[in-house]
Amino acid sequence: MNYISTRGGISPIPFKDAVMMGLATDGGLLLPEVLPRADSKTLDRWQSCSFPQLASEIFRLFITDISIDLLDELISRSYSTFSHPEITPLVQKGDLFILELFHGPTLAFKDVALQFLGNVFEHILQETRSTMNIIGATSGDTGSAAIYGVRGKERINIFILHPYKRVSPIQELQMTTVVDPNVFNLAIKGNFDDGQAIVKAIFNDLPFKNRYHLGAVNSINWARILAQVVYYIYAWLKIRNKTGAASIEFSVPTGNFGDIFAGYIARILLPEGAIRKLILATNENNLLTRFVTKGDYSVAKVVATSSPSMDIQVASNFERYLYYLYGCDAERTRQDFEQFSQTGKLVFDQDLLRTIQQDFSSKSVNEDETLNTIRRFYEEHDYLLDPHTAVGVNGAQSCRSGDIPVVCLATAHPAKFGTAVTKAIGREPELPPPLRGLQGRESRCEILDPDVRLVQNFIAHHALL
Ligand SMILES: *Cc1c(COP(=O)(O)O)cnc(C)c1O
Repeated sequence: MNYISTRGGISPIPFKDAVMMGLATDGGLLLPEVLPRADSKTLDRWQSCSFPQLASEIFRLFITDISIDLLDELISRSYSTFSHPEITPLVQKGDLFILELFHGPTLAFKDVALQFLGNVFEHILQETRSTMNIIGATSGDTGSAAIYGVRGKERINIFILHPYKRVSPIQELQMTTVVDPNVFNLAIKGNFDDGQAIVKAIFNDLPFKNRYHLGAVNSINWARILAQVVYYIYAWLKIRNKTGAASIEFSVPTGNFGDIFAGYIARILLPEGAIRKLILATNENNLLTRFVTKGDYSVAKVVATSSPSMDIQVASNFERYLYYLYGCDAERTRQDFEQFSQTGKLVFDQDLLRTIQQDFSSKSVNEDETLNTIRRFYEEHDYLLDPHTAVGVNGAQSCRSGDIPVVCLATAHPAKFGTAVTKAIGREPELPPPLRGLQGRESRCEILDPDVRLVQNFIAHHALL
């Protein structure tokens, strides 16, 4: 299987090259040259698979330049860090299914992909005898998942910038208590945008970037999407087995369009109608909801909500969907994104809107609705939703077709977002074991002024060469 760019500007490359490239060199995003489909015999075989076995079966369709034995070893290592034997268990609450994606080391769904990506990076770097220094800015959640993805790995150092004292105490502890020698936390005296701007400036310094083999782990990496396809199929198989239903819907709390795009790939992989629609739930940052309901994709200002990992206005994986919406027309995709980078706006006509609405339905869920959903769900089912998951549950309740099962993706453990949960139910959520021991543990963090040169100096002193 080879990978191409949504903008048509690269010759096809194998999986390992696609993982190392991240963003395509022509500015587009990488996608498999063809999308595989599973026939009914294959699906019957998959029915009895454990999560790691299913991951192996699905990855093989997309990764043909790593041997199956090695792939299985990478998968086994990636999911041995999860605390639940089923990795992503499915629970039923009332008339909804909840797919719990938060049993990884940092208690958020990003672990499912980043645990795997870390192991893939390590393998490729060993093979090519090279090194990588990962740099990223975080507003809280992605940073810890990335750190846990590569902690203790050979040939990789990671530098994560977070805004000093502006992430939640738990998020700060999750990052700074990882004291492996290859992990560097930089607390920047400023806000998230300052950190983001510094990282951008460093990546734009090409001599520096090349000298220190800088790498990124952002959500556009194809390996992250691929790893997330697995739990959609896993949930579909389980529900088919349990209820006999062969057609279901998923509700996905969405920011960067990464997780829900994995659902779109799963939908193509499965027989037609198996996933009827994907419910795209947004918080008050409603760019993607406007896209689905009105064909209006125009950037607005970001507002802060209680589901901060979805406080996003440019959905970095959106271009992948657009490429398919345009029938794999790379030239049209390229033109649109050039226009978008200048105007911040794309408009879709009625014909396209009809296709979009066959794939998705959508709702933007406001702050009151989010907290009310947490409260009501807790009262009715004695089950705590985190605010991101609550956005998805609310979206499911409003947009579901009604006659088929709906699976809501639970993207974070409620204890990670204690402030919002406390607001909703009047008491703090109980801390699960991985969060309980953090306070008082040894920690390491460098506090720096928001200055590109200071950060570059720090990296230069601690980078792997
Ligand atoms: C990142 C994140 C999301 C949004 O996922 P996207 O792939 O960016 O759409 C939702 N919930 C939580 C808890 C997250 O960390």
